Formats: sequence, C-alpha cells, structure tokens
Amino acid sequence: MTGTPRTAAVIGGGPAGLMAAEVLSAAGVRVTVYERMPSVARKLLIAGRGGLNLTHSEDFAAFAGRYGAAADWLRPVLEAFPPAALIAWAERLGQPTFVGSSGRVFPKAMKASPLLRAWLARLAGQGVVVRTRHDWRGWDEAGALAFDAPGGRVSVAPDVTVLALGGASWPKLGSNGAWTEMLRGRGVAVAPFEPANMGITIAWSDVFRERFAGQPLKNVGVMQVGETPGFLRIESVTRGDVIITGYGLEGTPIYALSAAARSLTNGCPQALVIDLRPDMTVARLAERVARAAPKQSLSNLLRKSLHLSPVEIGLLRETDVSTPREPDRLAGAIKAVALKVSGTQGLQRAISSAGGIMRDVVDKSLMLLAMPGVFVAGEMLDWEAPTGGYLLQASFATGVVAAQGALAWLDRQRPIDAR
Ligand SMILES: Cc1cc2nc3c(=O)[nH]c(=O)nc-3n(C[C@H](O)[C@H](O)[C@H](O)COP(=O)(O)OP(=O)(O)OC[C@H]3O[C@@H](n4cnc5c(N)ncnc54)[C@H](O)[C@@H]3O)c2cc1C
Repeated sequence: MTGTPRTAAVIGGGPAGLMAAEVLSAAGVRVTVYERMPSVARKLLIAGRGGLNLTHSEDFAAFAGRYGAAADWLRPVLEAFPPAALIAWAERLGQPTFVGSSGRVFPKAMKASPLLRAWLARLAGQGVVVRTRHDWRGWDEAGALAFDAPGGRVSVAPDVTVLALGGASWPKLGSNGAWTEMLRGRGVAVAPFEPANMGITIAWSDVFRERFAGQPLKNVGVMQVGETPGFLRIESVTRGDVIITGYGLEGTPIYALSAAARSLTNGCPQALVIDLRPDMTVARLAERVARAAPKQSLSNLLRKSLHLSPVEIGLLRETDVSTPREPDRLAGAIKAVALKVSGTQGLQRAISSAGGIMRDVVDKSLMLLAMPGVFVAGEMLDWEAPTGGYLLQASFATGVVAAQGALAWLDRQRPIDAR
C-alpha cells in the first residue's frame, strides 16, 4: 500500500475490541487499542474459569433466536461471523474446540489464557499497539479522543474509532458503563443497564444456608410462575444444575429466567418452582413411595427409596416443614418445590447486562448515525442473550462487523487512488 497508513483507535480491550483490532490491522490499518485497566480482556479470562463457553452448536435459526428482541437486527451480524467461523478462528490460534453434552462449544484447554496469549501475539505481529491504563473520557474541544493516562491527559485523532467498552456487569473487571453519559451527551440513545444472567435472592433459613450454601441441585427443572389474581401461569421451564448460594440461587436454568425475574423490580410477585425429578412423572414417584416399607422413617424413605440427596431433602424441608407422607402428595411436593423469590442480584454479580446503545442509532455497519466514523461493538450495544456461548459469539461478531464497516468507511473517505 502506498501513502500514509490509515489509523484506528479501538477503545476497550475485551473480545469485541480485540476482534475489531484484528480485522482492521489485517487490512493494513495502523491500530492502537486503548484499555482503562492494567491489562486487557479481564472478563474473557474470568469467563475462562467456567471453561470458556465460546459459542453453541445448535442450528443457526435456533441460535439467532436466542437473542430475543434483538434477533432480527443481530442475525446479519451473526451471519457475517457465525459460530463455525469462531470455532475456526479459535483453532487457528492453536485452540481446538469440542461440543459439550449440552451443545455448548468450549476450547479443549477449558480456559481462556492460552487463547488470549496466542491472540495477543498475533495482534502484536500485525502491528497492533496496546495502551493499557488509558481511561477514555470522551472527546475534547478539538474533537480528539481524550484519555486519562498515567502521564496525564492524552489526546489522539485517528482516522476512525471503534468503541468496544462493554456493558455494566462485574464493573471491577473494567466495564463500568461510565461511557453512557459521554455518548448520551452526543445525542446517542442508550437504554439504561439492567442485570442479565443474574442470580436470584431467596431468604433461606440460617440452618439451610449454613449447611447447603455452595452445593448443587443436579439436573433439576426450574419453572417461573407468574402470579396473577385467580390463577397461576407457568412462564417458562428450564433444566440443568442450580447452585445454592448464601443469598439464593445461581446457575444456567436461573439465568435463563433473567428477563422475567427482572419484572420483580416492577412490583410483580414471582414464585419459582423446582422440579427435583424432572425425568419422572408424579405417578411413577408416587408408586415408589407406595412400595416403600410403611414403617420406614420419612428421612429414610426420601434417602433410600427415592434417592434424594441431603441438599434436596433440605430444600424440601425448607419449603414444606410438614412434608407429606401420602404417596401422591409427597410425589407432588418433590416435583414442585415452591420458593418465594424476594429479589434479583444486581449488576455487580450479573454475568452480563441488558441495555446499552439502542439499535435505532447505529447503521447496519454499527456506525453511530450521530457520529460518522465512530463504530460500536460488543456488549455496549442493546442486546441480551442467555448463557451458552451467545454472549461471546455476539461480542466477537459485532467486533468483526464494526471493523468491516470502519474499513468501508475509510475507503469512502479516502479512495484507494488518493492514498
Ligand atoms: C463470570 C463471567 C463468566 C462469563 N462466561 C461466559 C461464557 O462462558 N461464555 C460467554 O459467551 N460469555 C461469558 N461471559 C460474558 C462475556 O465475557 C462478555 O459478554 C464479553 O466479555 C463482552 O465482551 P466486550 O468486548 O463487549 O466487553 P468486555 O469484555 O467487558 O470488554 C470491554 C473492555 O473495555 C474496557 N473499558 C471500559 N470502559 C473503558 C474506558 N472508558 N476507557 C478504556 N477502556 C474501557 C474495559 O476495561 C474492558 O476491558 C461471562 C461473563 C462473566 C462476568
């Protein structure tokens, strides 16, 4: 390429920003990544503690549907960088993947650090410069990007900018949502952040909390029940392992109910029903109860004849002090342990956040309509999805699309012949 190289500032060194940096630098753009923390991709590394669920293997239509209200506008973005492309990308970084029993895709290493190390080496090889401890503070009076850095205020005026500042969950990892006011001040509509994929609060008794906090309820069914006057309405049913915590419950089936659980804050009372034996019908369980020796104590019946674990028995007793012995009623109680949800965990502990830059204020290439030459990517956009690899997939894909948009925009500003 002849002429002055084009320059890009990518602000935010998470998966979305680093992916944008990769695509831009591969096309010959001189890229600097600015990150407010002392190191990049802290949330990606924490995600690695759970095995790093990169994406999901289900068919594309079902996959795209997981983004709910955002599915329509995210579909073309995901098509531009679908799960197969992400898997191939990870493999090119020396991280082969496998599909877990639930269809989720993980690197065989089951952690993020080897992938991140290889990725940063590739980016350095493509000339990407990473400036950590650079906290973006908006634009200065001359229109340059302004950062608070260890040596004081730094101003830069790149040819194009990609913002990938993340959402607002786990703020101690760097994404604190402080950028929302800077963008709102520039006329960019930002939906308020709310927790997504968060735990729920249940007022356990002291005895139950002390004995069972940290223990899993394996492969249970979870139903969210909306209480409306006169009848109970089942909102949704999910399945998987749930973890008892000191403050309530965490785990994939609980996270899947995030959006419904948030309505709690709107004053709508909610109950959660746990099915401890989702693979058995009430009739089959009742038959087992009826077959048990009549003189067997209730504890022995639950443990020996019905194979309930101590935590399952504890949960049953926590909610129903007078656990019934009569077969149909006991079977019904095991298949519908009703818990009163008193709240949800906040952004500090949520896996992700809902809210962010609204779809209407960006074009198809993820450029801010109010700020030509400024592109946005990742969780700072207004979409939400359950856990299962959907969060990282959309973060990577929006990074790719924002960078491709930035390249096309650069070409429109300075056609090849003029460079
Ligand atoms: C505990 C946990 C486990 C998770 N596990 C998974 C999983 O297994 N699978 C999955 O799909 N998703 C998972 N996620 C979610 C996933 O990690 C995020 O969706 C993803 O990291 C979002 O990428 P991002 O690049 O948009 O934002 P981030 O990863 O949040 O990166 C944004 C970056 O911008 C920086 N930044 C913010 N403001 C500024 C500023 N003003 N100036 C400069 N830099 C700034 C931040 O410090 C941060 O480094 C998990 C999240 C958590 C918390």
